[in-house]
Amino acid sequence: MSKKIIVLGGGASGMCAAIYAARNGADVTIIEKNDQLGKKLSMTGNGRCNLSNLDMNEKMYNASAEKRMKQWLSVYGVLDVINFFKSLGIVIKSEDGYLYPVSGQAATVVDAFKNELKRLGVEVIFGQQGKRVEIVEEDGVKKYKVVTNVASFIADRVIIAVGSYAGAKSTMSTGDGYYMCQQLGMTIKETHPALVGFKCDDDEILPENGVRCTAEISFLLGNEAIATEYGELQLTKDGISGIPVMQASGKVEKFLSEGKPIYASINFFPDYDDEDYSSLVKEMMRFRDDRTLLEFLNGYHNSNVNEMVIRRTKMGRTMKMKNISESMVDSILSNYREYKIKLKESFGYEKAQVTSGGVSLGDIRDDMTTKVHDGIFVVGELVDVDGRCGGYNLQWAFTSGSIAGTVASL
Ligand SMILES: Cc1cc2nc3c(=O)[nH]c(=O)nc-3n(C[C@H](O)[C@H](O)[C@H](O)COP(=O)(O)OP(=O)(O)OC[C@H]3O[C@@H](n4cnc5c(N)ncnc54)[C@H](O)[C@@H]3O)c2cc1C
Repeated sequence: MSKKIIVLGGGASGMCAAIYAARNGADVTIIEKNDQLGKKLSMTGNGRCNLSNLDMNEKMYNASAEKRMKQWLSVYGVLDVINFFKSLGIVIKSEDGYLYPVSGQAATVVDAFKNELKRLGVEVIFGQQGKRVEIVEEDGVKKYKVVTNVASFIADRVIIAVGSYAGAKSTMSTGDGYYMCQQLGMTIKETHPALVGFKCDDDEILPENGVRCTAEISFLLGNEAIATEYGELQLTKDGISGIPVMQASGKVEKFLSEGKPIYASINFFPDYDDEDYSSLVKEMMRFRDDRTLLEFLNGYHNSNVNEMVIRRTKMGRTMKMKNISESMVDSILSNYREYKIKLKESFGYEKAQVTSGGVSLGDIRDDMTTKVHDGIFVVGELVDVDGRCGGYNLQWAFTSGSIAGTVASL
């Protein structure tokens, strides 16, 4: 007899689990709190859905998950994701290894999931919030009772795929799963917003108009760099963000939330080594002429970065370069090498792409069943697995979802 499976949550991992289970002949129902499936999935990759990455390995995930990820990726890796999408009729392309649907539209990915769920006869119940899972017995057989705010449902297996705290309010990311899993006896590792930008200290001078530029950014706790990243940095009057900031954010947020003082140190000339940079500075000395400081700097870097530097050095922008000493020019230009900004706090879960922490890996077996109950599976971001930017989090949603869906149906 086919297994009755309830999937709580119709996001990336839940829909994937439902498809694998239904393809194996299971009788699957998705219970989704929102009024639509895959709301967050439709927002991914700036609406383009960066669904995985050819540069795939366990090092792309939080250190505590690396060992387990190696095993999971060997069971269901990037090629499996590509084949899965082929089976949904979605053509994938690589942009420097980053995988997207050729359509360039995350909405088409969500539609493909919906079509396949419909084709497989998966029932979807919208607008019900899963509250808890209880263990019951029916005719001497262990079953699971999923209780929602409206009704209750009996199943042979339950896959909890309700996501995390991260994402806009419309994604319904309210972290219900942490409570649900804790009630079932699982351990929840402390959660933090990750893949997120930061607000800066109120006294920091930030560009009114915003800047996007390539930079290297190190995050300092005292003199120690806790993370260093390279890429397109975004500076706005609200704070700092962009890929290099997001990549480091998991580590940085943890320290900030403990009240530790963290500085971002920005190198606006990341492609110069120290020797190249000092030659550049020497070369610039020949422009100590009639031009103003602002004119001089506008030949040097982005005008909005220059405004920040000028305001920090407290020098008049109309000051003639010939009246500024070499050592002063040297000191002004050193700002472009190491511009330190004190951070205040992250932009929080609503702006974060993922949540670090979650259901402890110690409670999850390799087949995604939980150690507390064989018939309960936990998948996706709810688990203590978070990846770097670049398709790694969706890869995890599909890896964990596919394994759980397959195993649950057996
Ligand atoms: C703006 C943004 C952009 C992103 N871009 C990328 C990207 O390009 N590449 C990438 O790899 N990752 C990206 N991510 C991360 C990625 O979207 C998530 O890691 C992934 O969607 C997690 O899948 P999930 O199934 O675990 O959770 P979700 O996709 O959040 O799905 C959980 C589902 O459960 C439902 N739910 C919640 N609570 C309940 C409840 N109590 N009962 C029933 N249903 C419930 C929710 O409504 C939701 O539909 C992005 C995230 C954001 C916010």
